[in-house]
Amino acid sequence: MVKERDVLVIGAGPVGMTAALALRSKGLNATILEAEKEGRVRPGSRAIYIHKATLEFLEQISPGLGKKLADIGIVWQVKRTFYKGEEVYKRIYEPPKPNTLPAFTSLHQHEIEKAMYDACNKAGVEFVWEEKVTNVKTSEEGVTVETENGEWQTKYVIACDGARSVVRNSVGIKFQGPRKSDAFVVVDVAEDEENPLPIERVFHYQHPNVGGRNVLYVPFAGGWRIDLQLFEEDDRDYYGSEEGVREWLPKVMDPKYADRITWISTYTFYQVVAEKYTDDHHRVILAGEAAHLFAPFGARGLNSGVPDAIVAAEGIKKALEVEANEEERRKYIRQAAEERHKAGLWNRECSNRALEHIQGTNEEIKLRREIAAFLAPHIPSLGRWLDEGPFGPRTGHPELTTKY
Ligand SMILES: Cc1cc2nc3c(=O)[nH]c(=O)nc-3n(C[C@H](O)[C@H](O)[C@H](O)COP(=O)(O)OP(=O)(O)OC[C@H]3O[C@@H](n4cnc5c(N)ncnc54)[C@H](O)[C@@H]3O)c2cc1C
Repeated sequence: MVKERDVLVIGAGPVGMTAALALRSKGLNATILEAEKEGRVRPGSRAIYIHKATLEFLEQISPGLGKKLADIGIVWQVKRTFYKGEEVYKRIYEPPKPNTLPAFTSLHQHEIEKAMYDACNKAGVEFVWEEKVTNVKTSEEGVTVETENGEWQTKYVIACDGARSVVRNSVGIKFQGPRKSDAFVVVDVAEDEENPLPIERVFHYQHPNVGGRNVLYVPFAGGWRIDLQLFEEDDRDYYGSEEGVREWLPKVMDPKYADRITWISTYTFYQVVAEKYTDDHHRVILAGEAAHLFAPFGARGLNSGVPDAIVAAEGIKKALEVEANEEERRKYIRQAAEERHKAGLWNRECSNRALEHIQGTNEEIKLRREIAAFLAPHIPSLGRWLDEGPFGPRTGHPELTTKY
């Protein structure tokens, strides 16, 4: 039997759950089709850094959710930057004001998904687990979604099925952009709650203990993420193996953390954006990693996936209200898709700038980094430039209302 819904969300990752919450907040029913089993635990801290703008969005579509994430997460009040082993910049922030959303929060992505799942259940979102989508066909009238178990009919789809999106491929939309050759090893370690490290975000340019490789330390609730930037000639498999991590990690961190490893991953980054965010019939809108993949520096992945999902839900709400008027309904879907496509290109540009700064392969940037490090103890603005460079521009696109 063919099942029918007005709107289907494909994928119960954080972006899919945001899309469902946004639909519910607009009075629409929301159904998520998810390939995996209910209760799965996904590995890796991944989207630990959640900006205030994202917390505010989540608070709007699901009152209490932004605050809950802020309560679970942590905020560091100290940032330090080292250059070849010497501290060149330190910044101390005031503690967040009580009863307000902090500038950011840092927590494991699994915790984010758990809180979103609870919010979805409270909001009456329908989850259909183990319902893997295999193909999607659009027409002027709507969408047929084929799954391993059967078929669904719907007017609109929000595609949140991640990097290898079956929906995106089914409607023939291509990713555009390069895969960067730089490799990073990303390691999560559990904090020693008896004797924790101070909560500080630390970046080492050219750490002397690991042959001049860059190292980033980011604390999150319950642990730390350490990113080691590899050289081109490095043996990636070795550095990213447990044996390799056990060898290099104690050189840059208290050796006890080598026994507290919870996740290791080696990445080369894609910097890709879908050529467009909607199909020819304006029935599908892409959101999150189905629409774009960025290097994580600057934290523009989930932080931009959330507004993707919300703008998609808003566009669909308006389109449903004028469903009989083909031109009008297309206009609303197109507007939503174009707005987020523009944001996607901007976010990629920002991640590119962050990557270039970190890489230091561009001679001019390399020289500027050297000079800034030399002068930073006397000219704090140069220290700040060194500190912020690995995370890219802090501003949003001038023509967009969203920051990410
Ligand atoms: C090392 C690393 C660090 C990161 N750090 C940050 C950060 O600090 N801040 C930030 O904002 N972002 C960060 N990100 C990015 C962030 O993790 C992603 O943007 C986010 O997980 C994307 O969410 P999503 O819901 O779009 O996709 P996913 O989380 O991939 O979810 C897709 C969902 O769709 C389901 N699915 C897939 N195919 C199908 C199908 N055919 N049918 C049905 N369901 C399907 C999957 O099972 C999954 O549940 C980081 C990523 C990495 C790898």
